[in-house]
Amino acid sequence: MPEIKPFRAQKRMKELMAGHFRGVDAAAKDPDRKVAWCTSVGPAELLHSFGFEVYYPENHGAMLGATRSAEKYIPLANALGYSPDICSYLTSDIGAFLAGETPLQRAYGLEGVPRPDVLVYNTNQCRDVKDWFSFYGRRFGVPVIGVNSPTGISEVTQAHVDAMVAQFKALIPTLEEVSGRRFDPDRFREVMRLSAETSDLWKECLWQASHRPAPLTFFDACILMGPAVVLRGTPEAVAFYKELLAELKERVDGGVAAVEGERHRVYWEGMPVWGKLRDLALFFQELRTAVVVSTYCNSWVFDAFDPAEPFESMARAYLELFIVRSDDAKERIMARLIEEFQVDGVVYHDAKTCPHNSNTRYGLPQRLKERTGVPFIVIYGDLNDLRCFSEEQAKTNIEAFVEQLGPGRAAAGG
Ligand code: SF4
Repeated sequence: MPEIKPFRAQKRMKELMAGHFRGVDAAAKDPDRKVAWCTSVGPAELLHSFGFEVYYPENHGAMLGATRSAEKYIPLANALGYSPDICSYLTSDIGAFLAGETPLQRAYGLEGVPRPDVLVYNTNQCRDVKDWFSFYGRRFGVPVIGVNSPTGISEVTQAHVDAMVAQFKALIPTLEEVSGRRFDPDRFREVMRLSAETSDLWKECLWQASHRPAPLTFFDACILMGPAVVLRGTPEAVAFYKELLAELKERVDGGVAAVEGERHRVYWEGMPVWGKLRDLALFFQELRTAVVVSTYCNSWVFDAFDPAEPFESMARAYLELFIVRSDDAKERIMARLIEEFQVDGVVYHDAKTCPHNSNTRYGLPQRLKERTGVPFIVIYGDLNDLRCFSEEQAKTNIEAFVEQLGPGRAAAGG
């Protein structure tokens, strides 16, 4: 029977995540401390420098997906005018709020989501985040501020960076007022240093999957990325990824495969199907196929971070992200990863409610196949709304695709 090999570091990760949520909850109840809600690739480093506890609604959205409770909540948001066609993180999160429920109750004993003092977005990923935060801004009567980012960028230029730096700096007066603290450039540099270190370590962890056999898969990484998302900029995240990296290197040295008898190596492009993460992980195990790389988990790798130039490097890092780029840049990035990770095929997930992270709609898969010779398949589903995902059909298609891959690069010594 296929099995998912757990990591020793997961125990530490659970403690860290529990500490994070309880910490934000305690801050929300303490009049002397402040909570900021932030988008997943928003300026969290700046917020930490002001001493905010930072909470990420997208992470909460993913929890709703993973616990398969999203479908219960989505209709409540739909009834308020939030369409079933827009981000299902947004609709499930707002729906759960309207129902007064959260998986944080059961997992960590919280009464509800921690109340924000300010909400800070970055539209580098999509406009949905701004609308999402605006809902809560109205509900809680607190400021909603953020940066409006260009998207579809081929090459990040100095003009792009300068425009974003100006917007980041314009957030400071509101953050000073809400936090009651003056902006401290030294503290900001220190948070950037910790965030850069977290990012470098996370990248090194992910890149262990370029070894054959891969010691971890995309499905493992979707779980293990928790601290890179919610704790970047903290010493705890740095310590965690050092521990995980050591464990991964042990696996590589011992030839321990995440997928026993690894035969094929594929790329997962697009969002995870959170409610089916485990089922899909086991299914790929059965097919002896390791999903070795994804643009999704790479979204928390910020190569440009440089504490010596905190504003400029933060702006550059948040513009260089895959989701912010044009199709020609995305093709270049994917072609490089296909080579680095010795990929035999690409699985694209077209997520119904996230066009921003579905790269299947303008001919990219076809062009990339022409460029690399690597075949692809598109499966249709969603990040949270399982009504859009036919598990049976997806599995049938994936199985046929993997069969067609033949003996793969391993047999060719590639
Ligand atoms: S990028 Fe997609 S999943 Fe993420 S917040 Fe935007 S619409 Fe939702």
